[in-house]
Amino acid sequence: MRYLTSFAGEPSDHNRFDVIVIGAGVGGLFAALNLPHSMKTAVVMSALPKDTNSGLAQGGIAICQGPEDQESHVEDTLEAGCRHNDPEAVRVMVKESPDIAQDLMALGVEFDRNPDGSLKLTREGGHSKNRILHTKDSTGAEIVRALAKAARGRDNLTFFDNAFAVDIITDQFGSAGVLAVLGGATRCLFARHLVVATGGIGRLYERTTNMRYSSGDGIAMAIRAGASVLDMEFVQFHPTGLYSPSSQQSFLISEAVRGEGGILRSPKGEPFMRDEHPLKDLAPRDIVARAVTRQMLKHNSPFVYLDVTHLGGDFLRTRFPNIYHRCLEEGLDIARDWIPVRPVAHYLMGGISTDLWGRSSVEGLYACGEAARTGVHGANRLASNSLLEALVFAKRIARVIPDTPRPGLLPSYAGEPRHRGAEFPWDPTEAMERIRRIMTERAFVIRTAEGLRKAREELGEMLSSAGGADLSSIDHFEVINMIQVALSVVNGALSRPSSLGSHWIEG
Ligand SMILES: Cc1cc2nc3c(=O)[nH]c(=O)nc-3n(C[C@H](O)[C@H](O)[C@H](O)COP(=O)(O)OP(=O)(O)OC[C@H]3O[C@@H](n4cnc5c(N)ncnc54)[C@H](O)[C@@H]3O)c2cc1C
Repeated sequence: MRYLTSFAGEPSDHNRFDVIVIGAGVGGLFAALNLPHSMKTAVVMSALPKDTNSGLAQGGIAICQGPEDQESHVEDTLEAGCRHNDPEAVRVMVKESPDIAQDLMALGVEFDRNPDGSLKLTREGGHSKNRILHTKDSTGAEIVRALAKAARGRDNLTFFDNAFAVDIITDQFGSAGVLAVLGGATRCLFARHLVVATGGIGRLYERTTNMRYSSGDGIAMAIRAGASVLDMEFVQFHPTGLYSPSSQQSFLISEAVRGEGGILRSPKGEPFMRDEHPLKDLAPRDIVARAVTRQMLKHNSPFVYLDVTHLGGDFLRTRFPNIYHRCLEEGLDIARDWIPVRPVAHYLMGGISTDLWGRSSVEGLYACGEAARTGVHGANRLASNSLLEALVFAKRIARVIPDTPRPGLLPSYAGEPRHRGAEFPWDPTEAMERIRRIMTERAFVIRTAEGLRKAREELGEMLSSAGGADLSSIDHFEVINMIQVALSVVNGALSRPSSLGSHWIEG
């Protein structure tokens, strides 16, 4: 399956750019902002910056605190990643992190400060030192606000809002543009440099912290364009999504809450992390997510509790105003009530495989942010390293693009999907629910080889049923993307018979 729908287009002054960026979270915005002002750049986005996963980030951004902290930040990242990381990529990220903090502050990002004016630093699971900059518990919203404001002021950037990218257009020289639904019509935009910054895949699961669009479109497009993807089996399940019996989107109770002293308790009220890991409640996320899952199974309960009542109402309201008020809306006063939480799909460590300059295996195609697999996170991401990774590699992409000559575009482009003609076989909403059920039952926190094989079979059948159908709406495209990405996760998991980091396989 190369293209999901047919298209024909000719590059012209109206649709030709030097660079196209897909996505307007921190990765896409920072790449666009760091490109030279002389490069005509299109930013294609389905969700506005404020409605991205970037905007939801609560805990903060890890920034190495000087040369003496470098080895320790690297070591914490490798340790959390079970040493499946690419050490060179980790070193690059850590070394360049202080510059990123400076860049952000120069763009107007306001991090929390101590009374003497120094930056306030906090700590999250797996960090051996306080090195996380934050803006209360709304760090992502603050960063995105500043980046979006700066980007909107740039003349060389053209924004396509409410746009859905369908496929990457390629020719014999590599990437050549993107096919997108813009204002209800399918259009081609052309550029020899294309940056995929479409975020993660949480929406492949029944419960996730991720925004609505997070179904892995960019990764599916890259797979169809022939790019290598790696480490797709490594999906991070956050242990403390706020329990809600009905909604798919789960509000996140940040790890910073445990960083400040929050304690996980079993449904019977016993603290259980002290028996699981020397770092107790601040153990790496994969370990906490499994411990929580086992407690839920043991007590046949859909949640465990997070207890912050001992931290005091005044502290909680000042340090975690967003979490405090959101829980209040759900009828919980966290100064008095234990918070019901459970593991939810949160972050993808794998993705489009890139080198240290964000380059994929397809010429002219780059990836950054959660859609990319830079090798930084290994088998399990260290808390607050993802905003940092997205920004560091977005900036590197923007540095390498101007130095990368590319051939001119061809006079015209056209693409045809494979044999079509049959009607789309399902109601798209039901198909999405089915995919999520398969992934939640068979490829969640604790996996078995048999469950994964069944998932592969079911997803494979779905792909062949839809393979000959006409795809005529964004919903149809999304279903195919979800199946392709889900298969990639399941195949990755099956190719790794022993447990590592977030990929835990039993039986
Ligand atoms: C609740 C929550 C809390 C988090 N807290 C932290 C934290 O404290 N620290 C930290 O480091 N990380 C945190 N993370 C992770 C981090 O926020 C994300 O990994 C990171 O922001 C991803 O940035 P991104 O630019 O790759 O993608 P995103 O911010 O997800 O942006 C993706 C963009 O791609 C667009 N897009 C997707 N598909 C298409 C398509 N088909 N066509 C057009 N556009 C498309 C979207 O509309 C969006 O604009 C958190 C994540 C969540 C969900």
